[in-house]
Amino acid sequence: MASVIVVGAQWGDEGKGKVVDLLTRYADYVVRFQGGNNAGHTLVVDGKQYIFHIIPSGILYEDKICAIGNGVVIDPQVLIDELDHLAEKGMVVSPERLLISTNAHLIMPYHRQLDLAREGVLEADQKIGTTGRGIGPCYMDKVGRTGLRMGDLLDMPLFREKLAASLEEKNFLLTQLYRQKPFDAAAIVAEFEPLAERLAPFIGTVSVALDEARKAGKHILFEGAQGTQLDVDHGTYPFVTSSNTTAANACTGTGFSPVHIDEVIGIIKAYTTRVGSGPFPTELSEEDAIGQHLQTKGHEFGATTGRRRRCGWFDAVVATDAVRLNGLTGLAVTKLDVLSGLNEVQMATHYQVEGRRFDRMPENIRQATLAQPVYERMPGWSEDIAGVRSYNDLPQATRDYLHRLEDLSGVAPVIVSVGPEREATMLLRNPFAPR
Ligand code: GDP
Repeated sequence: MASVIVVGAQWGDEGKGKVVDLLTRYADYVVRFQGGNNAGHTLVVDGKQYIFHIIPSGILYEDKICAIGNGVVIDPQVLIDELDHLAEKGMVVSPERLLISTNAHLIMPYHRQLDLAREGVLEADQKIGTTGRGIGPCYMDKVGRTGLRMGDLLDMPLFREKLAASLEEKNFLLTQLYRQKPFDAAAIVAEFEPLAERLAPFIGTVSVALDEARKAGKHILFEGAQGTQLDVDHGTYPFVTSSNTTAANACTGTGFSPVHIDEVIGIIKAYTTRVGSGPFPTELSEEDAIGQHLQTKGHEFGATTGRRRRCGWFDAVVATDAVRLNGLTGLAVTKLDVLSGLNEVQMATHYQVEGRRFDRMPENIRQATLAQPVYERMPGWSEDIAGVRSYNDLPQATRDYLHRLEDLSGVAPVIVSVGPEREATMLLRNPFAPR
């Protein structure tokens, strides 16, 4: 029996989909604990393509149980669309296999509208790069204690009451501040009634289910979305997501005790990327030949938005921040194959900011923006490694690169990924196996 958390160690898009899919094979339960339908991955299984935004991809395994914790915010229509998409491919999900927390907050139509309106009035360089899906405004209502939750769908009179109270403020904001049309409570209720009926069988107490699973000796995998530097508290604020992406939230976001966590695996690309605005010290310019190499070879375009990702060298400052903030016990190094074909590779070991050395990301956003990375250079490798399946078959220069990455971060890789295919992955140590 083991409980393992998987988190992104950088700014997201580290290739979590593939690593989670691999670890899911050893798990009995797969649980999401934060974020909303702003995360996304595509999996191709037996020639069929599946797209996931909210349901853990573990649902594709008939013997796994998936859960969506209280820390997640849910757009019920998106969830139903995802269930329908699965059903079309022949995967009918029963309530025995998908449990949704009664305390997870609902993304309402006015959250989406407010998201777009708020981002719309910001100057170009101040835009957070929100996906416009209402996630930020939904979390604002959660903390503001005016949110509607999954459980409210089981009690429509209460739902109506809470909606009326919330709309009073939302419609004022929409009409008076953003000059937009107000929402009609009756129309929202009419829209939500059938959604409530459809989702009701899936709604329950995730905390109790996970505790029972743990006591029954089950393996539980907690699947994070986004990445450590996007954590609302510990990331490059305000250019962050609106939830805690670090490991501790696997507990608060599901009601599972930290005492029972065995391993925390950080997914880390062999280089660095970032979508949207905000500090990115090791960024290479769009004109830079290496930057172009990473972008093209790594297909660095957002899965959900299609936006071009900013690319740069591996950053050991970001890595050690992730190790400290999450308590990482292992790394899953992805996209190592993308570095093939470079004469020389570089890693940032620390930053200089206004004459001062920084071994962590500066909390001050102005300093983080000014951070100048100090690089270490290493010989690159020309071999195509996408077909390598055993660590010892990697070229010496590639192994040296991984060793240095381990030295600088202080944590050993447990997974190394060298290509997009399921098979292009080396499992060096199984985090579910007893140590
Ligand atoms: P996620 O949201 O964290 O899963 O990350 P992305 O949406 O960026 O997905 C990662 C993309 O990179 C997918 O298209 C994967 O097929 C691909 N990918 C994952 N691991 C590797 C790898 O080791 N090498 C290469 N070349 N591609 C990979």
